Amino acid sequence: MSGCGSGCVVRGDHAPGCSGWVPSDDSAVVECWGCLPRPAVQGVLCAWCWGRMQATVRTLPSVVEHLVDVAEPSTSSPSGRRSVGAPSSRPSERALYAEALVQADDLHAALVSWALEVAEEASLRVGVPRGGTRWTADGGDPVGLAGRGATRRVVGWLVPHLEWVATRSWAPVMLEELASMSSSASRRFPVEEPQRRVTDVRCPGCGCLSLVVVQPAVVGADRLVRCTLSACGRVLSEDDWARARRWAVAVATADAGEGEAA
Ligand SMILES: [Zn+2]
Ligand SMILES: [Zn+2]
Ligand SMILES: [Zn+2]
Repeated sequence: MSGCGSGCVVRGDHAPGCSGWVPSDDSAVVECWGCLPRPAVQGVLCAWCWGRMQATVRTLPSVVEHLVDVAEPSTSSPSGRRSVGAPSSRPSERALYAEALVQADDLHAALVSWALEVAEEASLRVGVPRGGTRWTADGGDPVGLAGRGATRRVVGWLVPHLEWVATRSWAPVMLEELASMSSSASRRFPVEEPQRRVTDVRCPGCGCLSLVVVQPAVVGADRLVRCTLSACGRVLSEDDWARARRWAVAVATADAGEGEAA
């Protein structure tokens, strides 16, 4: 089995031939924390990277829509977090909103670029949805958003192809670019998506109590259940999640039955 294309390693485990020391930046050597490649399980990606790929792509619409909400509080914001019109009166805040829009455009354009790459390389007959995106004059390259909901449509198109994406040698590059853009946007303009830690259902991937439910801030967005253990990183579909909960209930009921019998 080959190692993860992102270069992930198993912390604490070493490849044959590791001396236990690795060179550091300042020409000294430091202790090796682990260098055994983490096995690729989905295409060229390890379990953690594969989970991160799905989570990153599937949460992009919420991130972009949140950035637009921050930038244009009067036009949307279903949660009514801001009062209409008032915030734009101060110049420093206007600049902040403009920056949120720039990030929304960049993130959307990066996503569309990768989607175009997928469509071309996989010779897909159904192309990337073009409405809702602003294009360069020749129509060749995406520039940014032209309408709300556009990112959601592109992600809806891309998600069924993610397993194929994971088989490409450039999958780690795509993952790194989208994940770092998305997380820096979320750090700058935090998305208020509460993560609820699950305390009674074990992750079907690793058996640990390590699942979180990410409730999207945006109405209509997918709820996401994922494992927070880096060695696992399983993302659960709605079906997986329902099955894991039924299983937990069955185990709890059986345990209770045994308790009564004893
Ligand atoms: Zn090592
Ligand atoms: Zn990896
Ligand atoms: Zn897990």
